[in-house]
Amino acid sequence: MAKVMAVNAGSSSLKFKLYEMPEAKVICSGNAERIGHEDAIFGIKYNGESSKDIVPILDHERAVELLADALISKGIIKSMDEIVAIGHRIVQGGKYFSKSVLFDKKTEDLIESLIPLAPLHNRAHLVGFRAFKKYLPDVTSVAVFDTAFHQTMEEQDYLFPIPYEYSVKYDCRRYGAHGTSHQYLSREGLKYLEGVEHPRIISCHIGSGASITAIKDGKCVATSMGLSPLGGIMMGTRTGDLDPTVMNYLCQCTGKSVEEMFQIFNKKSGLLGVSEVSNDSRDIAAAIAQGNKLAMLADTMFVRRVCDFIGQYFVRLGGADLIIFSAGIGENGPDFREKVCKELEPSLGVKIDPSKNDGLRGKEALISKPDSKIKVVVIPTDEELVIAQDAYSYYLAK
Ligand code: AMP
Repeated sequence: MAKVMAVNAGSSSLKFKLYEMPEAKVICSGNAERIGHEDAIFGIKYNGESSKDIVPILDHERAVELLADALISKGIIKSMDEIVAIGHRIVQGGKYFSKSVLFDKKTEDLIESLIPLAPLHNRAHLVGFRAFKKYLPDVTSVAVFDTAFHQTMEEQDYLFPIPYEYSVKYDCRRYGAHGTSHQYLSREGLKYLEGVEHPRIISCHIGSGASITAIKDGKCVATSMGLSPLGGIMMGTRTGDLDPTVMNYLCQCTGKSVEEMFQIFNKKSGLLGVSEVSNDSRDIAAAIAQGNKLAMLADTMFVRRVCDFIGQYFVRLGGADLIIFSAGIGENGPDFREKVCKELEPSLGVKIDPSKNDGLRGKEALISKPDSKIKVVVIPTDEELVIAQDAYSYYLAK
């Protein structure tokens, strides 16, 4: 038995989950939030109990120290050496990484070189990695990339129709995101496709960030997010795909700078921007129940865009055997799933079974009728598990 930690370091946060491997049993999980502040929060969940302390955490190194203290003082481990491997989530792996890799100096340098493509995320991941490295210099460290699963896309799918020179010189292309989730979902989805020779899966990771991926024979062939997670379908606060003229035109109209408008497209658009209510689908549903017209419009636009991508990927895959719903809205939104499936029914023959879909939240289940032309399932995603498994396999291979 061995303990492996999955880590997700943000600019002011550090999320962790400790697993017992190979059983993949979660031992504890938690988060340091508001790193950089005197009144930061350190939370840990263990044995069904949660604790949250407000303490100064001025940097990520302090967060790692607090984590080590908590693990030992709670008797979860006797010493940090019991942790044999750490998997670090990395948002942007650019064109360099098509799978998880050992977090050595070369990996570190490449992740650093990709900072311009994901300035907030990659910088923070490196800070997190270095903080652990200082504390546990000899542990097996593995970098697990959100973009890696999408590296199987062909040129015609990942290139933007911009001058080719820019694609090459600046690596300006579609990288996608949520790859670890789509990879997990497509593997889990296979159990519904026994006997299907070349499985075609449309995986819908629909949370506050949302992306859809077309997967053939276990490989990503197309994905909705682009150079950054701003692309693709409409999301909680992000626009998704836009005519690029919208940027120019709105900057002229409002006098705002490109940077200001970019922030609006990222943080004030999507469900929040259209509904003027909230980015949270639960608040939108409550507003719809009270007859709020903009909430209804936001909801309809959202469903429409999800269906547009599913239709596009149905064509791209030459059909589909399985549609998977996952993440916050996909897992917990029976109404959302029903609306999407109803819109797909006339053209794709998708038939949802209300007796299986209604009330289903956060649990795996097949929700289509037996005569549906495409099976539809809900599968809760588990990115941390993939991160821990990849880290563990590098430990075993050592
Ligand atoms: P995620 O980014 O995957 O954590 O998804 C978060 C989003 O899922 C929230 O902003 C809500 O819009 C939506 N959601 C709907 N129902 C639930 C629920 N019961 N629990 C969590 N998220 C939910």
